[in-house]
Amino acid sequence: MERVIVIGSGPAGLTAAVYAARANLRPLVLAGGLYGGQLMLTTDVENYPGFPEGIMGPDLMIRFREQAERFGARIENVDVTAVDFARRPLLVRTDDAEYEAESVVVATGASAIWLEVPGEERLRGRGVSSCATCDGAFFREKHIVVVGGGDSALEEALFLTRFGRRVTLIHRRDRLRASKIMSNRALSHEKIDIIWNTVVQEVLGEDRVTGLRLHNVAGSTYVFEADALFVAIGHTPNTGVFAGQLDLDERGYIDSPDGSLTNVEGVFVAGDVNDHRYRQAVTAAGAGCRAAMDAEKYLEALEFKIENVHDRGPLPALP
Ligand code: NAP
Repeated sequence: MERVIVIGSGPAGLTAAVYAARANLRPLVLAGGLYGGQLMLTTDVENYPGFPEGIMGPDLMIRFREQAERFGARIENVDVTAVDFARRPLLVRTDDAEYEAESVVVATGASAIWLEVPGEERLRGRGVSSCATCDGAFFREKHIVVVGGGDSALEEALFLTRFGRRVTLIHRRDRLRASKIMSNRALSHEKIDIIWNTVVQEVLGEDRVTGLRLHNVAGSTYVFEADALFVAIGHTPNTGVFAGQLDLDERGYIDSPDGSLTNVEGVFVAGDVNDHRYRQAVTAAGAGCRAAMDAEKYLEALEFKIENVHDRGPLPALP
């Protein structure tokens, strides 16, 4: 029986693992087949405190992982396929194993959203991507399009200027959602141009991307030549296995009316799977810390209850 199982291995999950490990709870981290979360698909992280020069996302996550392991966390790169939180101990299943636990921290994060337009799925890996770090280098001296108007889109666009001869950002509105600093950087970059008020209707090309069919608010539809499409339009929470087990909000994020607590006693939540507002590595890490501390308190209270039942012993004899 595990004392704490952490599901997920982004900043939230691995911070929960560091704290739980340092509390001698020997957490088991079910990290997912693609461990490390969204930062594994990011380039420079410049706003994580403690790294004044910035750090690459994957390097940061390797450090998180090493830190958790140093204190005794056991990390397995497997996906959780089912949970049963209606029973005690709590049950967590993967394809090959079944684990019982006194407490669980859910930190499964969120995943990239796609445009869902014709041609997008067919040409994924052939010019369509959601990860500039992974695929940017394939498009040296090419014309690259990025879709989206948030920080992710601008971060991708800026990174892709290292490779592309030209980077076009296509945004559906007439103003960016991204932070001022990122917006200013992108708007003033000589390689980046922006097409406003426009959506992608179709990705064109036989065996690789050759262009996009665009549609703008003025009502015109036209073909725009491009060699690659990077989609950066936000994320959706990874809560599939928790449906029916934990309360979710109307957007599918795990509900936590009070800190890291969920509607199930002993199950705690942290990070982007429960946060559609801040969604930062540092807020996720903070939430992971909070969840582990809550789990620790919960286990202490549980032990106290059990010890009290045992310690009471037989009733004293009546005089
Ligand atoms: P986001 O802030 O939700 O932005 C998504 C963008 O995609 C919006 O501009 C949205 O348009 C657009 N969009 C959504 N659905 C679309 C569709 N179907 N077709 C076309 N466009 C669509 O997501 P994000 O950029 O991934 O950022 C998420 C969070 O992470 C934010 O809090 C952000 O600050 C943070 N983040 C920070 C950094 C950094 O500081 N370095 C880097 C990455 C992310 P509308 O504007 O019209 O809604």
